[in-house]
Amino acid sequence: MIQAATSNDLFLRAQNSIPGGVNSPVRAFKAVGGNPRFMVSAKGAYMFDEDGNKFIDLINSWGPMILGHASELVQKAVQDAIPNSLSFGAPTRKEIEIAELIVSMVPSIEKVRMVNSGTEATMSAIRVARGYTGRDKIIKFEGCYHGHGDSFLISAGSGAITLGVPDSPGVTKGTANDTLTAPFNNLEAVQTLVEANKGQVAAIILEPVAGNMGLVTPADGFLQGLRSICDKEGIVLIFDEVMTGFRLARGGAQELYGVTPDLSTLGKIIGGGMPVGAYGGKKELMDYVAPAGPVYQAGTLSGNPIAMSAGMAMLTYLNEHPEVYTQLDHTAGKMVAGMQQNLEQSGHKFTINRVGSMFSIFFTDQPVNDFESAKTSDTAMFGRYFNAMLQRGIYLAPSQYETLFVSTSITEDLVEQYVQASIESIKEALEAK
Ligand SMILES: *Cc1c(COP(=O)(O)O)cnc(C)c1O
Repeated sequence: MIQAATSNDLFLRAQNSIPGGVNSPVRAFKAVGGNPRFMVSAKGAYMFDEDGNKFIDLINSWGPMILGHASELVQKAVQDAIPNSLSFGAPTRKEIEIAELIVSMVPSIEKVRMVNSGTEATMSAIRVARGYTGRDKIIKFEGCYHGHGDSFLISAGSGAITLGVPDSPGVTKGTANDTLTAPFNNLEAVQTLVEANKGQVAAIILEPVAGNMGLVTPADGFLQGLRSICDKEGIVLIFDEVMTGFRLARGGAQELYGVTPDLSTLGKIIGGGMPVGAYGGKKELMDYVAPAGPVYQAGTLSGNPIAMSAGMAMLTYLNEHPEVYTQLDHTAGKMVAGMQQNLEQSGHKFTINRVGSMFSIFFTDQPVNDFESAKTSDTAMFGRYFNAMLQRGIYLAPSQYETLFVSTSITEDLVEQYVQASIESIKEALEAK
């Protein structure tokens, strides 16, 4: 049985000084019921909480811990960097080294600017696209998350051609009106928006594999179709690879699917667990960024030497060990196959989407290929499943609309444990209905 007294106390105490008791909303377990666990340490595949519980971690800090927790090579790089001071606010050799490495790994990137989060990366990328094209509007997709920048907190409302309505109070109408939304995997809707806003669309931004509505894969031809619309209309194509970058392949989803955007945004794995983001792309576009060009973007702690050291160690390892991606694909494939086999035997038809080491289960019998179909999933069932898994020592993302991230620390034994727990938890969640 999972102990919870200390975490429950801490969560109560946290409410007094932190909004909702957490520093990022999804951590609060609101979507699944129950209180969040407060963590004290983690190593490899395991996280340890304040109550003395041990969990197999399938979030891995929402992606960065692709080599498992407390990777010795990343930690050593950080320890080596610390005595030289934590920050200078002046350029360092390490920033060139990591930029050169990123350029060599990510197909679309010829020049890159480091920032401190994925949110900063996407905000900056659309500013560059707007500055470069002299246009105001952007197209995003329903269910795609690009951080909490004002322009991105918009959903479609009814119908793709409707003007955006703010999803969050605090986003102005002006901003919302400049964000057009289309259903994921729907090229026709994009075409219609582009025609209705001829010469006004600066950028199309998307997660090439969507991970923020649960995992949704791009349909055949979708990414290529967007590429050709952008080429024809002079629109900047931005792949938000904050989640997929360095995860699906060394060069991210753009390498896996063979479609090259004009700009890419990166985060999560790029910092090896430290707060880092980056945006980069064609020289022509990136030379629009100050001080080379007129588009202003800056950061006191950008390119921080400790964060760069962690990122450099992580990326160097991944670059030199492409077999990591085959291993992760194999591990995640076995996890999913084990569940699928049991579901078939028990006559339940649920949808599991997977690309490489990212996957999600949706409690619906429909295929899930956009936000509308993702929403057919039984989220109450997901909540019961999540809590049943937690009781079995398996820590999943506390929301239906998230993906799981497999790390290289997941061994064959743990795959077995996961599959077994998952089968029992689905059964329990169905019975509790
Ligand atoms: C996590 C995420 C972001 C935001 O990154 P932060 O570092 O949380 O600001 C942006 N885009 C995608 C696709 C993400 O998954």
